[in-house]
Amino acid sequence: MMSKKVIVIGAGFSGLSAATSLADQGYEVTVLEKNATPGGRARSFEAEGYTFDMGPSWYWMPDVFESYFNRFNKTVSDYYHLVRLDPSYTVVFGEDDFVDLPASLDELKALFEKWEPGSAARLHKFLEQASYKYEVGINQLVYKPGRSVKEFMSLRLLLDVLRMDVFQSIHTHIRRFFSHEKIIKLMEFPVLFLGALPQNTPALYSLMNYADISLGTWYPMGGMYKIIEGMVQLAEEMGVSFLYNQDVQQIEVEQGIARRVRTASGMFEADVVVASADYHHVERQLLAPGLRSYTEDYWDKRVMAPSCLIFYLGIGKRLQNLRHHNLFFDEDFGPHAHEIYTDPKWPAKPLFYVSAPSVTDSSVAPEGCENLFVLMPVAPGLEDTEELRERYYNVIMDRLEHLTKQEVRNAVVYKRSYAHRDFITDYNAFKGNAYGLANTLMQTALLKPSLKSKKVKNLYYTGQLTVPGPGVPPSLISGQVVAKEVAKDFALAAGQRLPVSN
Ligand SMILES: Cc1cc2nc3c(=O)[nH]c(=O)nc-3n(C[C@H](O)[C@H](O)[C@H](O)COP(=O)(O)OP(=O)(O)OC[C@H]3O[C@@H](n4cnc5c(N)ncnc54)[C@H](O)[C@@H]3O)c2cc1C
Repeated sequence: MMSKKVIVIGAGFSGLSAATSLADQGYEVTVLEKNATPGGRARSFEAEGYTFDMGPSWYWMPDVFESYFNRFNKTVSDYYHLVRLDPSYTVVFGEDDFVDLPASLDELKALFEKWEPGSAARLHKFLEQASYKYEVGINQLVYKPGRSVKEFMSLRLLLDVLRMDVFQSIHTHIRRFFSHEKIIKLMEFPVLFLGALPQNTPALYSLMNYADISLGTWYPMGGMYKIIEGMVQLAEEMGVSFLYNQDVQQIEVEQGIARRVRTASGMFEADVVVASADYHHVERQLLAPGLRSYTEDYWDKRVMAPSCLIFYLGIGKRLQNLRHHNLFFDEDFGPHAHEIYTDPKWPAKPLFYVSAPSVTDSSVAPEGCENLFVLMPVAPGLEDTEELRERYYNVIMDRLEHLTKQEVRNAVVYKRSYAHRDFITDYNAFKGNAYGLANTLMQTALLKPSLKSKKVKNLYYTGQLTVPGPGVPPSLISGQVVAKEVAKDFALAAGQRLPVSN
């Protein structure tokens, strides 16, 4: 009996994870990717001797990556070399007010204690609870496909969920433990990864503080793209075929079953289709109207995580006063957050982030030079013009030069900007979003766009707009979850392997 053919649309983290997991279960998998290289939002490019990671720069939750490779009897170190950063990152609170976040918990406690007596003990307590949430959240909840409320109906799990502060905001939760302004800013920072305001993010996500403080910030030498290269290599070892420059234009459906996927240059037969491209794009552009699970009104009401304005900069000299990860929190986040989430507009006084991987890794810049990735979060769906980008380039450069006390602009030898228009052109991103759907309470688990189509029997979705959510570790998990659902719904031929369990 022939094995079943699966077409995966998109070669980002979730598509790679789904494709590899399905190939491991005996399916014949072909990945169709519109761009010339894999990686999706995590692609990289080279220019003037610099190697730029285009998207993710924070490697958190190393256990999720390790368990991903372990599923295939491999280990992370088979594919790339990880180092733990120390300090994990630096926060710029203002002029001459730079704080390094030490990797050591004892050193961090000492820092907290200096700011707020008694806070070290409270941090200990906070992390104990966060560790429990991480354990249940990352090892159980995020692997739920979110297809039925029954998945959550075990008494143990219900008790766990109640203990996990799902109905309290992380904003309130953090203030129950700490009052010093700097500590609050530090503890709220990881929530920014989830794409919503701390006030709208369940306290369950203090698990992100556990990831930050207890599990640490890591870096794959050579850059984040090393993870993609490793995943593609593993996928190919498992028999997955990759076809690039294949912009999928239609999923052909007959009697409620996806039969073929059409690109500009070919037609591909499918028994199952897994779409890892942006969910909204697949529904709106690749499916006929009657086959869409959600209305345009539904999508308009979704809370999207922010988009961002990015500058990839090659600096022709080494810079002072910068670490690998630098958060410029010298302005108040309140007004900037308001301009991202409540009253979407380009911000008056933005916070921004600078990554300088060349501080850790000499391979990403020519000798004696610095590689900078500068990111400013901004609301999705905004007008995006060259003039606006340039205005913010100058705002950011003024502050960067002033705070780090050096000239940067006149040493820029390579510069490329990236924002909404690019996210749409490159990834078909809904409203030019960068990070998918925000992790609010009303967009959690069953309340997210479903990983299985409601109208097309053999069409599934994976990636940052469905379960479990945005970010590299969730996208890795999303691919594994969808593969398991496919295996449940579409039995394999006799003699082939059964799906792996979590
Ligand atoms: C600037 C930026 C910084 C980030 N920083 C971090 C970080 O530090 N840490 C972290 O954990 N996460 C970070 N993230 C989030 C993380 O990168 C994403 O959540 C994750 O990469 C999403 O993977 P995905 O597979 O869901 O989507 P994608 O990576 O977008 O993959 C979808 C793929 O589908 C392809 N596609 C789209 N339409 C079609 C079509 N019609 N035909 C064929 N192919 C198609 C796209 O080209 C793309 O390759 C960041 C994201 C961005 C943008």
